Amino acid sequence: MRIIPIGGFDEVGRNMTAIDLGDDVIIFDCGLYLPPIVELEESEKVYTEKRLRAIGAVPDDLILDKLGLRNKVRAIIPSHAHLDHIGALPFLAYRYRAEIISTPYTIQVLISILEDEKMRLPNRLVSIHPNSSYYIKGKNNKYKVDFINITHSTLQTSLIALHTPQGIVIYSNDFKLDNHPVLGQRSNYQKIKEIAGEGVKLLICDSLYSGDERKTASEKVARTLLEEVLLNTHNQDNGLFVSTFSSHIARLKSIVDFGKKLDRKIIFLGRSLNKYVISAAKINLCPFIKDVELVSYRKQLEKKIRKINARREKYMVVCTGHQGEPGSILDRFSRNQLPLQFKKNDRVVFSSSVIPTTINIENREKLDNRLKKRGVRIFNNIHVSGHAGREDLRDFVSMINPEHVIPAHGGPDKTMPMIELCGELGYKSKNLHLVRNHKYVYINWATSQIDF
Ligand SMILES: [Zn+2]
Repeated sequence: MRIIPIGGFDEVGRNMTAIDLGDDVIIFDCGLYLPPIVELEESEKVYTEKRLRAIGAVPDDLILDKLGLRNKVRAIIPSHAHLDHIGALPFLAYRYRAEIISTPYTIQVLISILEDEKMRLPNRLVSIHPNSSYYIKGKNNKYKVDFINITHSTLQTSLIALHTPQGIVIYSNDFKLDNHPVLGQRSNYQKIKEIAGEGVKLLICDSLYSGDERKTASEKVARTLLEEVLLNTHNQDNGLFVSTFSSHIARLKSIVDFGKKLDRKIIFLGRSLNKYVISAAKINLCPFIKDVELVSYRKQLEKKIRKINARREKYMVVCTGHQGEPGSILDRFSRNQLPLQFKKNDRVVFSSSVIPTTINIENREKLDNRLKKRGVRIFNNIHVSGHAGREDLRDFVSMINPEHVIPAHGGPDKTMPMIELCGELGYKSKNLHLVRNHKYVYINWATSQIDF
């Protein structure tokens, strides 16, 4: 077995890893690296494979061509619906004669992205329910793959267990351990323990916060934080605007629940918000769809915003823009590009944290300054992370007890603490692999190959 780290091991984003099993290759994830896209000028935002490769926004999967593996790829398995895990599929998946296999929500989001971009993929899309299995047909082998439900900040995230003749590989790239997820099921600990009992050869693991000495709080904590801000601050006569990650359906549910308690009409504004919510509704995973009004088309948008502007105390606006993204609804409100002016004591609730890249930090600072100039009350960081902290990871690795560990989801600044953590758990350094994109970098290893 050979592991080829393609993307996501030098940066936080464009996750992609290939497992070379000799006759067959299985790919996990195929995501975007967002900062270079955010930095593009509005006029440059025409996405093609060539352009995205040039700016480093997609994984450099040409390595599979160089290694003669491209035609051996049998399946691409995204772990969940976040763009840093599925966003490059529309541009790269056509290169492989391979099925794309994931949970219904992930597949549905991929379909809406393709529709949005007016793109098509030749690949067969296969929806597999959480906590069930699928068999991938290889040249001479069949590989069982389990999609085990695990908690994260979007719906139907999977821990993927790939059964190979050389042992079980677990790909767990993005998860937290949340026993009160607000929406969706808890992680399937029983199944995880069952697989662990069979013996796991390799764990490829989200290690983004392996250096943060904490247990990541449950989504129910974010719900309580929101409750405090939305129900226990003085707000009767003012505008109320809330922004969060568009794919975070559980968070949106909490926001809507409290909006209803306030007896305000709940309006969702912004394209990406609509895309993820409608995807959830299409497969019956959006419990609040009947309680909200979705507005995205331009004509409809301005008309609705005029209405809100006139009677803002009657509405709760849920909208895009928590990272200060140019062109988002909050950005356009703050620049007076839409027919609504922020007023003194209007409230903007950021149910998010700023993703710590230079461009996002700058964009948010600019947005916050414009809001402050108008006397808007800002409520920041009404949020908990979707990624496991160091103490979750300690429990997780102990539970799975894999022979080898490859930390994922970032460069060495993110992955090295995971190596150290596994050392604390008694792992020998020959079983811990700090890898980089395209390269295997470790004291005794000069090639990009890990031989078990
Ligand atoms: Zn994620």
